[in-house]
Amino acid sequence: MRTMAIVGSGPAGFYTAEAALKAFGEDVRIDIIDRLPTPYGLIRAGVAPDHQSIKAVSRRYDQVAADERVRFLGNVRVGEDVGVGELTAFYDDVVLAVGAPQDRPLGIPGDDLPGVLGSAAFVGWYNGHPDFKDLEPPLDTQAVVVVGNGNVAIDCARILAKTVDELQASDIVNHALEPLSRSEVRQVHVLGRRGPHQASFTLKEVGELGELERATPLVRIGDFPPETEDAALETGQRRVVEVLRRFAARGPDASRPVTLSLDFFRRPVAVLGHGQVEALEVMKTRVDENGRAVDTGETEIIPCGMIVAAIGYRTASIPGVPFDEQAGRFVNEAGLIAPGLWCVGWARRGPSGTIGTNRPDGFALVERIAKETLAGDKPGRAALIALLAERQVPVSDFDDWRNIDALEVARARAGAPREKIVELSELRALFEG
Ligand code: NAP
Repeated sequence: MRTMAIVGSGPAGFYTAEAALKAFGEDVRIDIIDRLPTPYGLIRAGVAPDHQSIKAVSRRYDQVAADERVRFLGNVRVGEDVGVGELTAFYDDVVLAVGAPQDRPLGIPGDDLPGVLGSAAFVGWYNGHPDFKDLEPPLDTQAVVVVGNGNVAIDCARILAKTVDELQASDIVNHALEPLSRSEVRQVHVLGRRGPHQASFTLKEVGELGELERATPLVRIGDFPPETEDAALETGQRRVVEVLRRFAARGPDASRPVTLSLDFFRRPVAVLGHGQVEALEVMKTRVDENGRAVDTGETEIIPCGMIVAAIGYRTASIPGVPFDEQAGRFVNEAGLIAPGLWCVGWARRGPSGTIGTNRPDGFALVERIAKETLAGDKPGRAALIALLAERQVPVSDFDDWRNIDALEVARARAGAPREKIVELSELRALFEG
C-alpha cells in the first residue's frame, strides 16, 4: 500500500490527490494536511469574494475528500507540530503543495511605514483568512496606490472601488465590508512599471473594471504605442489592450465619484510620510527593445494614505527543506526536492497561472512519482495520528469542516453565500470538543 501525505489543501494539493487516486487505484492512502481547520487554500482565501463562479471549483475537491482512500487532517502545522523529516519517515511520498502565501516586499525606502500593505495581507483580510483578520487597512484616505499590473492588483483595486451593494452577494467577510462601506477612498491608482502591452491582466478581469457602479477606469491615451503594433501581440494580450484602448477613448465619467486610474510606466522608488504613508514617489519609465523597464529620470509624487503591493508572492520556507531565497520557493528539479519529498503548484514553479494550471501540474507530478518510485511499507496515517496525539495537537477532519461550512452558511448576511469564521479559537472550539 502506497502512503502519500500532501501538505496543503489548495488547488495544487487537491489536484495532486485526484491524480494519485486515478494513478494508484485501490493501492493508495492519501492524507491531505492543512495548517488551518478549513480546506481549499487559495480558493477560500485568495480568489476574490466577488468571483464566486471560480470558487465553485471546490465542489470538485469535495468529491476527492469524500473518497474513502483520502483523509483531511486540518489544524496541523508542518514544520512546527510535525517535521518534514518525520513525515518522510512515515509516508512513501510527501508532496508540499503549500502555495506562496507570503508577500514580496517592495524593497524601497519607507516600505515599512504603517499603511503599506502586501496584497496577501489585504486579500487575506477581506477574504477572512485568520492571519489577517486584525489588519485594519487605513480606508480614511482619499487615495490608494496598488502596485503591480497583475490580476491580484486588479482584484484589490476592484474591491476598493466597489459599492457595498456590489459586494453584498459575495462572501467578503463583514469585518471588511463594514469598514469598506465607510471608506473615503475616491482614487485608486494601479501602478505598472511597464506599459499596456506588458500588463499581466487577463481579459475578464480587466473588462470588469469598465462595469463598476460608481467607479470609472482612467487610462492615458499617450501610454499606448501606435495601434499597428498591437497586431504582434498574442491574442489574449491583444484583447486586453483593446479593452484598455476603449477605456482611454472613453475618458473620465463625471457621474462616477471613484476613479480607477491605470498608471503605466511608473515604478515605485520611495514611500513618503511621517509615521504613516502620505505619498508614493515614482520614477517614470519606458520599455526598452528587450521589454525591460528603463528609468527616464523624471519622478512624480502620488499623494496617498495607503499602498497595496501586489507584486507577487513567496512560498513560506519549512525547516529542513532546501529553499531558494532569491526565487522564493523550494529548491527542486521538476518537483523533486529529495528522495520521497516533492513539491507542486506555486510551491514548485512560483506564483503564476490560474487555478486550473495546477491540475496538469498535479497530474504531471503523480505521473513522475508513479514512474520513478515504488510503494514501500511505511506506516502512513496511523503513525502521524499517534505522534500528533502524543504532542496534543487537535486534528480536524472533513466532517468537522462540513460542520464549520454549515455554520458559516447559516450565518451569511442576506444574499451572501456564507459568513466565514475568522477566529482560529472559534474554529478550533468546533472540533476540539
Ligand atoms: P503577476 O501576474 O505576476 O503580476 C505581478 C505584477 O507585479 C507584474 O505586473 C510585475 O511587473 C509587477 N511587479 C513585480 N515586481 C515589481 C516591482 N518591484 N515594482 C513594481 N511592479 C512589480 O502576479 P499576481 O497579480 O500576483 O498574480 C499571480 C497569479 O495569479 C497570476 O498568474 C494571475 O493571473 C493569477 N490570478 C488570477 C486571477 C483570476 O484569474 N481572476 C486572480 C488573481 C490572480 P512586471 O511584469 O514588469 O514584472
